[in-house]
Amino acid sequence: MPAQTNLFLCLKDNYGVLLHDPESGATAAIDAPEAAPIEAALASTGWRLTDILVTHHHGDHTAGIPELKQRHKCRIIAPRKEAQSIPLVDETVGEGDNVRVGALAGSVIDTPGHTLGHISYFFPAEKLAFVGDTLFSIGCGRVIEGNPEMMWHSLLKLRNLPDDTRFYCGHEYTAANIRFAKTIEPNNKALGARADEVAGLTAAGKPTIPATIGAEKAANPFLRADVPEVAQSVGLAGSAPWKVFAEIRARKNRF
Ligand SMILES: [Zn+2]
Repeated sequence: MPAQTNLFLCLKDNYGVLLHDPESGATAAIDAPEAAPIEAALASTGWRLTDILVTHHHGDHTAGIPELKQRHKCRIIAPRKEAQSIPLVDETVGEGDNVRVGALAGSVIDTPGHTLGHISYFFPAEKLAFVGDTLFSIGCGRVIEGNPEMMWHSLLKLRNLPDDTRFYCGHEYTAANIRFAKTIEPNNKALGARADEVAGLTAAGKPTIPATIGAEKAANPFLRADVPEVAQSVGLAGSAPWKVFAEIRARKNRF
């Protein structure tokens, strides 16, 4: 049976998401920004929380862990390199490790840059990826602990996932990301189409994620730093892609 997901807002603009295996009844929360919206999602779906898969140590991804752990006795899986900064961890994982949610089989991808130990979770049979604060729709996370070259290589790993992979990210930033992306690639047709789609979703009060890796590759400037036109548009024709990425990220920080 295919996996089911349930997406909901937490805090101000964080996303919470549940991943459910109908066969075994297992359910994982990807990160735990706060307990109450996760409890509400569990109540509305009737699912039982068995696991929390943590992407990185920031409080807006981990603050709900203690309360949820106490109530549900769920297993906490966290990135090995920053497990010491995450509460009540049961199991630590890193690049290439396998993760199971009931019968759903995922693997861990190290995606450092936003934080040094940040990881993403990929479930190939389900064509689902959970990318935390590394990749956003038409954007990417701030490079806080790592450096731009590191972040670019993490984004390339996500870009290399199959085009039909649907990814869930940690925040609803898409509309603001689109406003910025248009300053880099004003004539990108895929970006224009995504802008129209997002305007419609936002007007209808709907989330703008998940998006697919294939669609994102065509429209997200942070995944397009190795496209000659993008390098040219930021005055860096012929430069290393990570340097182009660094310039786009710096401009976004000032935007
Ligand atoms: Zn973060």
